[in-house]
Parts: sequence; structure tokens; C-alpha cells
Amino acid sequence: MSKVVELPLCPFCGDVASYDGAAGFVNCRNSDCALFYVDTPRAEWVSRPVEDRLRSDRVADKTRIAELETENEMLRDQVIRLSGSCQNKGYRIGEYPRVPVTASQVTEKQN
Ligand SMILES: [Zn+2]
Repeated sequence: MSKVVELPLCPFCGDVASYDGAAGFVNCRNSDCALFYVDTPRAEWVSRPVEDRLRSDRVADKTRIAELETENEMLRDQVIRLSGSCQNKGYRIGEYPRVPVTASQVTEKQN
């Protein structure tokens, strides 16, 4: 006798699973699915290493996106401040005059 228990959905069709506790096998309840006919050990059915890795990667990606959004906001604020500073001097960003730097000035900056 099989019964419906809390198991991950079928990895192929997404339907619910049926667990035969006496035999220890899980099957998909969708008769159109290949796993309807395959007796899968419960431990194997609940093991989803690829999905687990993808979930972990997704969390890491969300964290990285939040970091980049924070950095982007900070850089945007700096551009706004620089733009205001340049306008006060009569320049616009990208048109700031380039002053040639001599080798001795580079050496001074490094020290
Ligand atoms: Zn299925």
C-alpha cells in the first residue's frame, strides 16, 4: 500500500510523489511520467545535489548583486559630487583638462 508523504516533487514532471513505506520506494504519481514506473529508493529521491547547488549559487548571486548595487550607489553619489565640483570650476566631466605628468612627479607620488 502506498501513501502520499512529504517528499520533493518529481524532478521530471513536478507532480507529487507516492511513497511505499514497506518497500522503501518512491514513485511519481503521474502515470504519464517515466518515474511512475521506476521504484526509486527514498534517499535517492530526496537527494537533489544539482538543485541544492543551484539554490546555494542563487543565494551567493543575490548577495553579490546586493554588494554591487551598494557599490554602484556609492559610485553614483561620487559622480554626482564630482560633477558638482567640476561645474563649480567651469568644467564638465570628461572635459577636465589633462595636465602632463613628469617622471619626477610620479616618483614623488610613490614616496
Ligand atoms: Zn513525474
